[in-house]
Amino acid sequence: MVDLAVSVSKGWMARVLGPVFDRDYYFDPRRRHEIDTQCGEYVQAELADLGACFTESNLGRREYLAPNQVLVGGIQPNMILGMILGAQLIPGGDKDADITPQCLLGRRVDDLPEPESLPEHELVRLWDNQLATIRRAGHPRPIPPFFWDTSGRPAVHGALTSAQKFLGEQVFVDLLTDPELGCGLLRWISRANVALVRHFADYSHMPITEIHVGECAACMVGAKLFRQCVLPELMWMRENLAPVRLHTCGASGHLVEAIAEGMPLASLDLGGDNSLARVRAQLGPTLPITIAPLATDLSDADPKALLKWTDLAIQENAGGPLGIVCHLEPSYRLASLRAMRDRVQRWGYV
Ligand SMILES: [Zn+2]
Repeated sequence: MVDLAVSVSKGWMARVLGPVFDRDYYFDPRRRHEIDTQCGEYVQAELADLGACFTESNLGRREYLAPNQVLVGGIQPNMILGMILGAQLIPGGDKDADITPQCLLGRRVDDLPEPESLPEHELVRLWDNQLATIRRAGHPRPIPPFFWDTSGRPAVHGALTSAQKFLGEQVFVDLLTDPELGCGLLRWISRANVALVRHFADYSHMPITEIHVGECAACMVGAKLFRQCVLPELMWMRENLAPVRLHTCGASGHLVEAIAEGMPLASLDLGGDNSLARVRAQLGPTLPITIAPLATDLSDADPKALLKWTDLAIQENAGGPLGIVCHLEPSYRLASLRAMRDRVQRWGYV
């Protein structure tokens, strides 16, 4: 079985519809709801044949988005934590937002607040109040921070990816020269994520059936460091929250053996430059896997490379549960994406 899950980026929406993803979009739920509704209507009218939805990259499961939902604190998880640590949100206007860089540079883990105290932060209180206000009004349905979907799955960034956001490349220097210091920060980030996810679950009566952990930066470390510093955090998230859906970007083949040691996983979400034959050989035939085609292939008006990639992925997957995920960016070619959809259908799927 192979699924195709297409989500649409803010960059694409800005190009075709022109909404401005400004500060109000992120902090005023009414404004957010208006713009998200417009975007949802566009996607329904223009991209229904692709089964697309308007949501964040790698989270595109249309069947689990609540109808008439409004996101409160719908900001990327590592940026939420960064803002709590003092970074400023930089709205992207016609693309995704960011935060001011390196908010932890020069600060010691010992001086950071207790993770369990973070729900008391004024930003969290602001979102709590917004959630309560919308709930009292009864319409639309408020979704707390961390992009919860109706299956009960919130999303956070992995500890390493968050640390890279907060420290820049210095995190890799710290991990290599002083692993205790580096791993200490990663542990703090995991505890912070768990405290915040639990807080919003309690406050909004949301179940936690699974946790998406976006460890985009994992491919930037070797297997040894991954085992030493990253894998323990993933296992800790599983023990303290829920089964983990692990997301990595880029070429992660060198980590597959180590990932296998951290099984069971709920699922694995991979970048397109990975061999599914190698992944299946290490992780078995039954693990649900999603994989994103390469951006260069999706941006090419000639779909030849994209179709070749699609055939190889499906062949190497050898019949296991597989999803192909695509987050539609402004440079991507719809005709090529549709050709890929047709190719997956020719294999007898979708
Ligand atoms: Zn990623």
